[in-house]
Amino acid sequence: MKADAYGLGAARVAPALWRAGCRRFFTANPDGALAVKALLPEADVHVLNGLFGEPGDYVAQGLIPVLNDLGQIERWSGLASRLERRLPAAIHADTGMNRLGLPAREIDRLAERHGLLDALDVRYLMSHLANAEDGADAMNAGQLGAFDACRRRLPALPASLANSSGVFLGPDYHFDLVRPGYAVYGGNPTPRRPNPMEPVVGLSAQIVQVRAAAPGETVGYGATHAVEAPTRIATVPLGYADGYPRALSSRAAARVGDVEVPVVGRVSMDLVTLDIGALPEAKAHVGTWVDLIWGREILDDLAMRAGTIGYELLTALGARYPRVYAGEAAA
Ligand SMILES: *Cc1c(COP(=O)(O)O)cnc(C)c1O
Repeated sequence: MKADAYGLGAARVAPALWRAGCRRFFTANPDGALAVKALLPEADVHVLNGLFGEPGDYVAQGLIPVLNDLGQIERWSGLASRLERRLPAAIHADTGMNRLGLPAREIDRLAERHGLLDALDVRYLMSHLANAEDGADAMNAGQLGAFDACRRRLPALPASLANSSGVFLGPDYHFDLVRPGYAVYGGNPTPRRPNPMEPVVGLSAQIVQVRAAAPGETVGYGATHAVEAPTRIATVPLGYADGYPRALSSRAAARVGDVEVPVVGRVSMDLVTLDIGALPEAKAHVGTWVDLIWGREILDDLAMRAGTIGYELLTALGARYPRVYAGEAAA
C-alpha cells in the first residue's frame, strides 16, 4: 500500500484487496496507514517507516508500528506498560539492507532484554530482501540465514521476509506472511523470465491530431527524429507530466488495435508523437484509441527502455486523466 498503492489509488485498491482476502496492509507512513484504516477498520495496518511523532497517536488511530530500533521498542513497550495493554507491533530486523530495522548487534541487545517484548503483542518479526529480483544472487540465502539467526535469538514469533520477488524464491522464504507489492499490481517479480502475473494496469489515450510528414522534416522538440519516408504522424495527449517518461523519446512503442507503432521524437510534457505510417487512415485517425501500457510485459519493458524500474513507472503515473477501475464505473 506504499505510495497510495504504488500510485494506483489506495481508496480503490485497498477495498479490492480486502475483498480478495487481504487482511494485513503495510504503508510507508502514518498518513497512508490512516487512509487505509479509515476504509478498512478491521484491517491490520502497519507503518513500515516506524514509530515517530506521538506514539499515543498510533494507539488512538489503531495503527501498528513496525519498530525499527531499540529506542522505538522501548517507547512502544513503555507506553504499553503505562496503558496496561499489550500493544500490537512488528519488529524489523535488518539482515543486509542497511536501511531500516535492527542490525544483528541490536537484535543481540534485544535478546538480552526480551522482557521489553513481554508488554507487546508482536505480530511479526520481519526483514526485507535486498536483491530478491536476482534469484541467483547468493545474498538471498545469506539474508535468509541471517534472518533465521535473528529468529533463534528471540522468543518464538511469527515471521515475514518476502516481498514480491522473494515469494518466487521458494517456500523457504515464505514463513508466516509474505508482503508482495509490485506483483499484486501486475509487475514482473521474476525479471528476465516471463511475467507470471496477470496484467493489472493499462494506459490508453485518443489521437488528437494526425498529419502527413515528408522526408527532410523532423518531429518534436530538438528535431531529434528525422522523417525518412513519407508517413503519417499521430499526436496523443499525454506526456511526461503524466508519468510517461521523457526517457522513452524514440525508444518505445504504442499499440493501435493490434499493431505496434513507434514513439518518434521527444516525449513532451503533455504530448507523445507516433509514426502511424504502417496503418491505413481508417485504422488510425483523430479519436482512435492508442494503448501506451498494455499486456503482461510492457511495464517492465518500458521501464528498462527508460532506464528505470516498473515501480517508478507505476508510482509516477499521473492523476489528471480519468481512471477506470475494472468492474466499476469511471472514477
Ligand atoms: C515495498 C516493500 C515491500 C513490497 O515490495 P515489492 O517488491 O513491491 O513486492 C515489502 N516489504 C517492505 C519492507 C517494503 O518496503
